[in-house]
Amino acid sequence: MQTLTTLRSGLLPTLSSHSRYMATAALNAVARARAEEISNNWKGTNATGGKTKNFIGGKFLESSTTEWIDVVDPSTQTLLTKVPQTTSQEFEQAVAAASEAFKAWSRTSILTRQRFVFELQRLIRENHDALANSIVLEQGKTFADARGDVLRGLQVVETAAGITSTLIGEKLEVSKDMDTYTRRLPLGVCASIAPFNFPAMIPLWTIPLAVVTGNTLIVKPSERDPGAAMMIAELCERAGLPAGVVNVVHGSVPTVNAICDHPAIKAISFVGGDRAGKHIYERGTKNGKRVQANLGAKNHAVIMPDANKNLAINSLLGAAFGAAGQRCMAISVAVLVGTAQSWLPDIVERSSALKTTGGFEQGADFGPLISPHAKARVESLIQSCADEGGKIPLDGRGIKVEKYPHGNFVGPTILEVTTDMKSYNEEIFGPVLCVINADTLDDALDIINANKYGNGTAIFTQSGATARKFENQVNVGQIGINVPIPVPLPMFGWSGNKASFMGDVGFYGKNGLNFYTQYKTTTSLWKAEDAIGNKASVDMPTMK
Ligand code: NAD
Repeated sequence: MQTLTTLRSGLLPTLSSHSRYMATAALNAVARARAEEISNNWKGTNATGGKTKNFIGGKFLESSTTEWIDVVDPSTQTLLTKVPQTTSQEFEQAVAAASEAFKAWSRTSILTRQRFVFELQRLIRENHDALANSIVLEQGKTFADARGDVLRGLQVVETAAGITSTLIGEKLEVSKDMDTYTRRLPLGVCASIAPFNFPAMIPLWTIPLAVVTGNTLIVKPSERDPGAAMMIAELCERAGLPAGVVNVVHGSVPTVNAICDHPAIKAISFVGGDRAGKHIYERGTKNGKRVQANLGAKNHAVIMPDANKNLAINSLLGAAFGAAGQRCMAISVAVLVGTAQSWLPDIVERSSALKTTGGFEQGADFGPLISPHAKARVESLIQSCADEGGKIPLDGRGIKVEKYPHGNFVGPTILEVTTDMKSYNEEIFGPVLCVINADTLDDALDIINANKYGNGTAIFTQSGATARKFENQVNVGQIGINVPIPVPLPMFGWSGNKASFMGDVGFYGKNGLNFYTQYKTTTSLWKAEDAIGNKASVDMPTMK
């Protein structure tokens, strides 16, 4: 029987069923050892072909579903685990557990909730490598990059520890003996729906803030790499989080729709692609929920002729090809301004030196794409550039990766494009850098501002005036000046704009706190003259 994965992705017919689902023996010794460690040491996930569990009401439970989604190692197509399409009964159970837990958790003291965050922080640090191993196996990124995935999530945990300062309300005496004060209270049961490209970071964008503010949470990881989320759930348990405060349910569209429709769920945090995000935003808000949705991107880096050439090119390549371009903040377009256009041969030469291989290999710069379907899609977008008259000075299609003949690899690719081409307008989400020429900074600004997306952009220049003008006039939410991937640290909020975001309040930082809380305002009157123990007044009553 075809699994959901094969049905959805239309797995490449060129892969035989043998190569599609090889036994774990197809992993090399390092990967096999890591897979065995995961299966042996963690309760909810498995990397040697067993089943991934749901985490409901503090228990890791095997689903009774008949529909299972295969997770395969993208470097070898080895079956790692099977993910359940959670049944509606199990989903109801998770919402009931979260609703029940909310009653006590929302009343738990702020110091207790803060202590949970401290403990989670310690445990994530302790298990940093274990989490990274799961990410390399299921997602395919390099080990160093997978550690970065965990670290960027850990930083949100660390910032959440400041809750005792950040959750403080306001108070003002608005009239004689009359005070108005605010408190920031949790919403109730919230949900977090994650994409495949950051299996640890994205769940950690939501878990610490939702929980430390007193909410309970249903996490729906990507069905393509749920291992890190399951390990984080177990770390929450070890950190002493009461049963039902964090729950994890798996699945694809049916689970997502159940989240959008369930009346007990008050808010949804979504990170992923445009199609799913628009659907979830519309369905969730129609059902009266608060929704924040981070969507796709096309991020431009402007290379000015006065830029530090070495810094600019190295930054560009790291941001374009790191994680095989599967980052929402990847630089996918380089805008070469004026004489910087002559740098293209250097960009091509340095790109071609990058090493594409399995994520555990020494010296790997980036790994495979998440699926054969993603590979086929990226290759067809590369082809569309040629079909539309663009040039391909570096073509990573057909790359042969030693030891990994079945991996979903595409090598570093550079396309010379114009803004009317499909390869420019679509988010490619692969190791493909589009290069576009502009005569002036103003032309570069026009190009970027006309693009529908607004996640991130960068400029490389040594002129403060140029940088300042760019920063003021570019309509993109996150800007780097000589910084290639300007993802704000979590004391600031995520601020992608235009078609890269739907909703009103962004992720983490002050925004995240606002998203997961609602204000309660109280106005009270306690007259001083009514205080017990007042002395009797002996003055002549004036009746005023
Ligand atoms: P995706 O949209 O395919 O999946 C994201 C989540 O939505 C998954 O949990 C999936 O199960 C669910 N889903 C998928 N299709 C659905 C549908 N039709 N209806 C309901 N739910 C559905 O995204 P992905 O491929 O996992 O992730 C890559 C995308 O995420 C890219 O577009 C990338 O730019 C974006 N992304 C954005 C940010 C950001 O902060 N802006 C961060 C990371 C990733």
